[in-house]
Amino acid sequence: MTATTTVREEGIKDAIRARLHQAGQRFTPEREALVDILLDAHKAVTPQELYEAAKTRARVGLTTAYRILETLTSIGYCQVILLDGELRYSICRPTHHHHLVCTECKRVDEFAACTLDGASVGGFTPTSHRVEIFGICEDCQGAI
Ligand SMILES: [Zn+2]
Ligand SMILES: [Zn+2]
Ligand SMILES: [Zn+2]
Repeated sequence: MTATTTVREEGIKDAIRARLHQAGQRFTPEREALVDILLDAHKAVTPQELYEAAKTRARVGLTTAYRILETLTSIGYCQVILLDGELRYSICRPTHHHHLVCTECKRVDEFAACTLDGASVGGFTPTSHRVEIFGICEDCQGAI
């Protein structure tokens, strides 16, 4: 898939720091450690998984893990994905994109090409949309 990108290489941490600052919040070392884990993970995680992954690297509680995910979501750098009845969080750039979600490893790729802009039905005026395409990623297909 050539149209996918990852969020890692695009200075996303600086952008998050700036947005948090605007919102009157600090990018503490604990928060930064959690964001690093989210970026490295390259997949949608539950707060519990984030907390488990953070334990070895930083002194972070489960509440802090929940809070950073909520904060990132509120500033537009995280999206909630419902997968197998579980809410998972994927770190994201705030620009419009769709998601390709692997149901095996929970990997999330961004798919920027959008053909839905301006789609409308009858008198309905669309203002936004979200697209999540579920499937099996290349790596997991290789493992089957
Ligand atoms: Zn995304
Ligand atoms: Zn996969
Ligand atoms: Zn779209």
